[in-house]
Amino acid sequence: MSSFTSPDFQLTVENSTKALNEMKIHQVLPIPENYHLWYTYTGDYDLSLTKVIDKLIFDNIPIDESVSKKLYQKFFSKDDEKKAINQAGEGFKIEITKLIDVLKDASKNTSGHTTSLANHLDKLSDFDGANELSDIIKLVLKDVEKLNSQSHKLEEQLEKSSDKIKGLESNLENARIESRTDALTNIGNRKYFDEKLSELIGVINTEQNGFSLIISDIDHFKKFNDTFGHQIGDQVLKIVAHVLKNATSSIGLPYRYGGEEFVILVPNSKLEEATTLAQTIRQVISTKSIKNKNTGQDFGKITMSFGIAQFRNSDSPASIIHRADEAMYLAKDNGRNRVQLETDLSKDESSNMAMQV
Ligand code: GH3
Ligand code: MG
Ligand code: MG
Repeated sequence: MSSFTSPDFQLTVENSTKALNEMKIHQVLPIPENYHLWYTYTGDYDLSLTKVIDKLIFDNIPIDESVSKKLYQKFFSKDDEKKAINQAGEGFKIEITKLIDVLKDASKNTSGHTTSLANHLDKLSDFDGANELSDIIKLVLKDVEKLNSQSHKLEEQLEKSSDKIKGLESNLENARIESRTDALTNIGNRKYFDEKLSELIGVINTEQNGFSLIISDIDHFKKFNDTFGHQIGDQVLKIVAHVLKNATSSIGLPYRYGGEEFVILVPNSKLEEATTLAQTIRQVISTKSIKNKNTGQDFGKITMSFGIAQFRNSDSPASIIHRADEAMYLAKDNGRNRVQLETDLSKDESSNMAMQV
């Protein structure tokens, strides 16, 4: 059991007092994030953080609330991608510094050896006999050997740095993929979808057919969860993602938009093609029996509702999502387990109007 007089306790109290003091000096609120930041600084637990804060203090830059927030995000953010970017950035700096040092060292040494070689060359025009020539040759060889070992060192360092940089690059790529993957279903997440949709809208040109967006939502999923439990519900989400992945492998990409909603981007497609795809998926899902492989327990069947919109030149990401969403809600209103297109929306409005007349 730790005692209040133990060195650890004393040190913690000292650091804590120092951290609170620093917060007073810099006039930042003693909220948990700031405390975490300043406690790490006063205890010297993260040298790169200490370096950054010391530099800010040295440059007389106020570490106010907004700077503290940025520092907190940079050093303690839970965003894996940001963390990996920072780590890779720091690692990269270290490797480049090592390289620069070796290069500086090599150029210092080589310039010494080159001067010495030039001196030997001078002597070559004015030597007396074989002995002197042999001495000069020995000296030249020595310099060449030194130059050689220097270039070996440089080569070795270059190779080491290049390996480390490759490692950093692949860590970064893994973090990039991870931050765009939905942890439960292993397909793209909302962040990835948002990026791809903006990308698609950005590169579309007149020669292309445009693209379609399918939004789908599991029907009465709350009831399913309430009946069989959240864990079985999670398994259903995995099954749905699997079906979507298989059905779209050569055409488009499915993403988990959130909760029990999935979206598919179908590049180079018109409404009719996207409708065929959505109908196929709807059919596969609605006829699949959801069973527990081990116990054989039957959870029945699930269905999904689909809404489809076609890209228009004036579209923003929000406007095309809105139309597909409206079409999906129309599918819900019309009884679920069906596919509705954005073109059905105007038809539906006119039929409503006709009914009102
Ligand atoms: P509707 O046919 O109108 O879409 O009905 P619904 O019950 O599917 O829709 P509602 O929006 O009322 O409920 C969505 C449910 O989806 C609520 C929640 O229990 C479930 N859900 C959302 N995300 C997850 C998840 O990650 N795992 C599980 N198991 N269920 C989830
Ligand atoms: Mg929903
Ligand atoms: Mg639903």
